[in-house]
Amino acid sequence: MKCMAIPTPKPVRADAGQEYEPVIGLEVHVQLNTRSKAFCACSTRFGAPPNSQTCPVCLGLPGAMPVLNREAVVKAVAAGLALGCNIAPRSIFARKNYFYPDLPKGYQISQYDLPLAQHGGLEIPDPAGKDAGKTKRIGITRVHLEEDAGKSMHEGHADSDRYSYVDLNRSGVPLIEIVSEPDLRSPEEAHAYLTRLKEVMLYLDVSDCNMEEGSLRCDANVSIRPRGSREFGEKIEIKNLNSFRFLQQALEHEIERQAEVVTGGGKLNQETRLYDPSTGKTSVMRSKEHAHDYRYFPEPDLPPLEIADAWRDEIAASLPELPQAKRRRWQRDWKLPAYDTEVLTSSPALAAYTESAAGKSKNPQGVAHWIMGELSAVMKASGGDWSQPPAPPAHIAELVELVDAGTISGKMAKQIFETMVAQGQSPRQIVEQSGVRQITDPAAVDAIIAEVLAANPRQVEQYRSGKVAVLGFLVGQVMKASRGQANPGLAQERLKAKLG
Ligand code: ADP
Ligand code: ZN
Ligand code: MG
Repeated sequence: MKCMAIPTPKPVRADAGQEYEPVIGLEVHVQLNTRSKAFCACSTRFGAPPNSQTCPVCLGLPGAMPVLNREAVVKAVAAGLALGCNIAPRSIFARKNYFYPDLPKGYQISQYDLPLAQHGGLEIPDPAGKDAGKTKRIGITRVHLEEDAGKSMHEGHADSDRYSYVDLNRSGVPLIEIVSEPDLRSPEEAHAYLTRLKEVMLYLDVSDCNMEEGSLRCDANVSIRPRGSREFGEKIEIKNLNSFRFLQQALEHEIERQAEVVTGGGKLNQETRLYDPSTGKTSVMRSKEHAHDYRYFPEPDLPPLEIADAWRDEIAASLPELPQAKRRRWQRDWKLPAYDTEVLTSSPALAAYTESAAGKSKNPQGVAHWIMGELSAVMKASGGDWSQPPAPPAHIAELVELVDAGTISGKMAKQIFETMVAQGQSPRQIVEQSGVRQITDPAAVDAIIAEVLAANPRQVEQYRSGKVAVLGFLVGQVMKASRGQANPGLAQERLKAKLG
């Protein structure tokens, strides 16, 4: 399990005297996990043989007509609502025109001046007070629905030195684009924002957010300005950042580069750059494209997308509890520290596990402790899929209950945990079968103490003549005689009484 390290943003000190502040906004593409494509019935399954999941619509053949996928709309609306946006009762599909070999139609169906959702926000941990669970709200400008392009393949074929190939299986797969306000102020905040965004998408089950397969893609816009200034600088867009680490590294490098250009007396121009992880540097890809370059116009083959209030409300009512709300509730009701709630909500499966183990327990903190400790260690070793946990949630809750009731000691609980994970029985069953349980009956403890005192007259003598330190030895003997089962607190108490 990863924990997030979000240090306080460091000011970029480009030269003595002048400090620059980064300004960052992200454009994130999320591939929706519908079974069929946005405007045709072709499958969206990843990894099928190239061009096997295509039809006249997604191949862009002349005369083929798009039909909007209802499920894609439901998922896009869910995402918009979860990000606190207003859902447009009426939004418009638009053609975004450009030439690319993986775009056979010569345009992408997207949304432009009337997007599906606008004016939302997402909370990220506030770097200044994250341990206290403080958050900072990052504005979401818009969420719109569009289709993906195909994929150009420049490698992997015997004649790849001369030819590139095109796979159109991805052509027409539904995407949402989520555009943030320029509210982020450091690469760490950008990282935290993307982390939170991914979390929300996973909880909603609208995407698998698999970055290696391109289900989650991120473009970062970044500029710098003198600290204290209110105006924004010229922004540079870094395209196709396909990992969290690269996002942060690319931004760090780019901020430094911009500061150097400005301090050196140079001027920054709006442009699009690419990050090369092998050199750790960004380089120019093209000069900045503008909206007018795309010749947007309303898609004539699709009617306006109308979302009735009742439909929107129905989708809103079906949303699961979101991670931020869950964290707040666990902090409030279970008195869990902010950090613990971060860890335990980091995946929907882990959160569901925690909910079901701790939710019915009288001691949710104790249960959380076991999940984050022993159980996570086992999970880590076995690959970490919380939908297939090594022990059912009820067993963890039961283990904590047995400790709290004094039936078993903390040490016994660790042994029972091992057995429980290895053999699958419930802690209660293991206690019954093995007889491993604490002896908490004073009469039974007294009987053991009597044996121990009879066997160790010298130590008894020492204790009585004032060498009270031998008590520890005698407690140890009682524990040994009881094969570790006597309640140590009780043993000590009764020993003192007998000796006293
Ligand atoms: P464009 O017209 O170039 O697409 P937008 O205004 O739509 O520009 O913004 C695209 C992204 O760039 C958004 O995420 C936005 O927050 C971010 N952005 C806008 N201006 C700046 C700036 N000066 N510095 C950094 N990011 C910015
Ligand atoms: Zn198709
Ligand atoms: Mg834009």
